[in-house]
Amino acid sequence: MAITALMPVYPRSGVRPVRGEGCWLWGEDGTRYLDMAGGIAVNALGHGHPKLAEAIATQAATLMHVSNLYGSPHQERMAQRLVARTFADTVFFTNSGAEAVECAIKTARRFHHAEGNPRRHKLICFANAFHGRTLGAISATNQAKMRDGFEPLLPGFAYAPFNDLGAALALIDDDTAGFLVEPIQGEGGVSVGTDAFLRGLRAACDEHGLMLVLDEVQCGYGRSGTFFYHEQVGIAPDVMAVAKGIGGGFPLGACLATERAAKGMVAGTHGSTYGGNPLAMAAADAVLDVMEAPGFFEHVRAMGERLRGGLEQMIPNHDHLFAEVRGRGLMLGLKLRSDARRFVGFLRDEHQLLTVSAGDNVVRLLPPLTIGEDEVAHCIETLSAAARVYVGPSDD
Ligand SMILES: *Cc1c(COP(=O)(O)O)cnc(C)c1O
Repeated sequence: MAITALMPVYPRSGVRPVRGEGCWLWGEDGTRYLDMAGGIAVNALGHGHPKLAEAIATQAATLMHVSNLYGSPHQERMAQRLVARTFADTVFFTNSGAEAVECAIKTARRFHHAEGNPRRHKLICFANAFHGRTLGAISATNQAKMRDGFEPLLPGFAYAPFNDLGAALALIDDDTAGFLVEPIQGEGGVSVGTDAFLRGLRAACDEHGLMLVLDEVQCGYGRSGTFFYHEQVGIAPDVMAVAKGIGGGFPLGACLATERAAKGMVAGTHGSTYGGNPLAMAAADAVLDVMEAPGFFEHVRAMGERLRGGLEQMIPNHDHLFAEVRGRGLMLGLKLRSDARRFVGFLRDEHQLLTVSAGDNVVRLLPPLTIGEDEVAHCIETLSAAARVYVGPSDD
């Protein structure tokens, strides 16, 4: 048999982590890595955070799972905490980002159905978007590498260039339900939505009675330096998908909505067997406890600035290799002048530095939000050392 037991959908590297502590990972063979990938923006508190680990262990021994057919003090408490600190009035818990996006899409469509406008089902999405791998989520991106061979995909999605407000507004018609947008595109290349673009989408939603659906699965939950990135832009969505960092490594997502936007999401319209089970809620509670401690977001901003400053200082010394730094807080992208995937592999295999490649030849730095000054310095030193000896594809 040629196929591996593990379905070979990932081009997996030789790194085989078996243990982690803070920003560090150890491979099966004992090699130590600085983890600037953070499980792709998931390990918000780093590896083995004592509060998170203890909360999960205690909850596992007390009550791990019950059906959503029963009342859930755990979910009510966590939902209340999110409602208290965000635009949202109501929350649905999922197990992943794609499911949070699915719930968001359904909420937006169902709103118009409840308003008596079932025709309004179309979401205007953006080029190079990434919303996950379900059929709904791949229907919401124009990226061929995710869509090819899975057609027919869902009808009801249109695509405009990212950051092109005019093009997005031009797509509005009688069928439009709203916009679905990552305020900072992650997988697409750490592209920050401009204030004018994001505020323009908000204004258009207000004007035309549309839903602004934000996907903050990657940029949200503290990573941008505020709890959610849209806070920095000064707008609020109607619906928002959250995941990645929310469970600190425990699989968890959430769809947040205003009371008005969730108007159609009545009993029987949606569900999830695992979503928001007591174990997931214990993890989420612990993550939020740590984030709500005084100084947490200040720390993210300070470390983000330090990392960005280090990267920017390094660029002129290696300007044949590096072009610019993008992003906010601890969601940073280093744009390369050549293949980013190749450089990410070099950093990993030759310098024990873990990063993630993104579209547009960007190297993503998504470290634990608990990263310290020493680790930021180690990252910059390692990147500089690697850049000095890197033989790029053009120099081969
Ligand atoms: C990772 C990601 C998703 C999908 O999350 P999964 O947990 O992999 O389903 C959706 N949207 C954005 C912006 C993401 O970065």
